[in-house]
Amino acid sequence: MLDLHVHSVYSDGSATIDEIARKAKELRMKAVAIVDHSIELYFGLTEAKAKQRQIEIDNASSLYGVKIYSGIECSIDASGDIMLPDFDFDFIIASVHEFVYGRDYYERVLKCMEKYEIDVVGHPFSRLFNFDGRIPEMDEKLVDIAEQLGIAIELNSSHRSPPDPFLELCRDRKLIYSIGSDAHDLSKVGDVGWSVERAKRYMTRAKLFSP
Ligand SMILES: [Zn+2]
Ligand SMILES: [Zn+2]
Repeated sequence: MLDLHVHSVYSDGSATIDEIARKAKELRMKAVAIVDHSIELYFGLTEAKAKQRQIEIDNASSLYGVKIYSGIECSIDASGDIMLPDFDFDFIIASVHEFVYGRDYYERVLKCMEKYEIDVVGHPFSRLFNFDGRIPEMDEKLVDIAEQLGIAIELNSSHRSPPDPFLELCRDRKLIYSIGSDAHDLSKVGDVGWSVERAKRYMTRAKLFSP
């Protein structure tokens, strides 16, 4: 089992790197990714914080013998842009963190996918943001671009996203998918049952993302 989306005290999570690593070892996880919010948020991961976090990741990784990736989650703004600190992350997740629906949502995400070297689209059509108004031809376009550019679609257990009708479209496509709990506290680390179940059901030809 692996969990590629965990927030730590370096952004808005409550668990330390050490606690997350220890829990990953207890759960015998194959790998865990610490993914904190980026600098568009006041509590986000600055360059200095990213460097400090990396030291803790390296220490915890050797102490517990657990593979720990260093990731970041950027918010996609109204122009499809993201902000990143100057740091070499293992991978980048880009997500919409506002109540945006219909065509506006697709345009933001598609622009971002085409403009930036992102690795994963985070929690598409999140129900926590009450997403409403999916557009079938835009769904197709998003899946096409993800397939062409090799950008992973995240199956996010906290957001329960993407929804089943979208996942239905992913069946038989050569996509990449990622698995994440989006844990903001220790109890949710590794809580990826929903994502794994959806992956088995829908991602029959897809490949699991590996940073
Ligand atoms: Zn998010
Ligand atoms: Zn997140």
